[in-house]
Amino acid sequence: MKVACLQLAPEVGQVQQNIQRAEAILSNTRIPADLDWLVLPELAFSGYNFHSLEEIRPFLEPTTAGISTQWATQVAQHYNCHVTIGYPEITTPAINPSDTQTHYNSTVTVSPQGVILHNYRKSFLYYTDETWASEGPASNSHNLSNASSPDPPFFAGELGTLGKVTLGICMDINPYKFTSPWSNYEFASLAQFSQSPLICISMAWLCHLTPTELIQDPGQPDIATVAYWVERFQPLVEAKEEKPVYVVLANRCGMEKGVCYAGSSTVIKIEKGIVSLYETAGKNEEKCLVVDLAERPKFQVRSGR
Ligand code: GLN
Repeated sequence: MKVACLQLAPEVGQVQQNIQRAEAILSNTRIPADLDWLVLPELAFSGYNFHSLEEIRPFLEPTTAGISTQWATQVAQHYNCHVTIGYPEITTPAINPSDTQTHYNSTVTVSPQGVILHNYRKSFLYYTDETWASEGPASNSHNLSNASSPDPPFFAGELGTLGKVTLGICMDINPYKFTSPWSNYEFASLAQFSQSPLICISMAWLCHLTPTELIQDPGQPDIATVAYWVERFQPLVEAKEEKPVYVVLANRCGMEKGVCYAGSSTVIKIEKGIVSLYETAGKNEEKCLVVDLAERPKFQVRSGR
């Protein structure tokens, strides 16, 4: 299986420019004819750092029917691969227009034929999301017992020919609201319980580097961030399963209103308790990272513990 992460630096509210950026990156990349999955970041075309509902309102897209979904459909058919992209969702009232509309931080996944397979709504919101988005529908079942509840807060299920997949968006891999115990590992626990061989996270993950630090060695990953992501999958490492689990982490890069994003999109393999890393994008480079999961990963990650 071949997967790709399109790491780009969208600017808040510049939808057309952001689309052009994504297309320029794709046209500079040799996309294999047998690519299975192209993954874009969280809120890839709207940008991420909105401070209120009023500010994001002009960019909200109707459920699986806005510009991001249209783009994903065309690109999926063009490259004959699945496409997952993050977008700011507004629901369309089912019965009459006075029904309340809800807003979600979502991803849509489209099949190579351009069929919409799944709309996933972020469950664990980051502070920025809380200003405009609602939690994904099942986020009230976020404690450890969720793994066996019929209605888990994250998506784990069949996704077209990709097979069984667990999907999340950025903060979903953190402890709920940063207040639940670190060791609950809500997201990794569901992934483990559902036995998905493939896990995919769309992200707009921030970093603690200063703008000056971020622009130095842009092609180098932010190791501290990658190490943190790996740590959040510890239950899968400790399970020491024979069958490998692949984790695709598709982050954005760049800056918005002084906020720096960590880039460093990466694809990881967890097998028999060993974590290895195929490839990592730089912390501040726009790039489409293509990884063949059948190849040997380049690096082995050792735990410092
Ligand atoms: N904890 C994440 C961060 O610090 C969450 C960001 C997000 O959900 N976009 O970047």
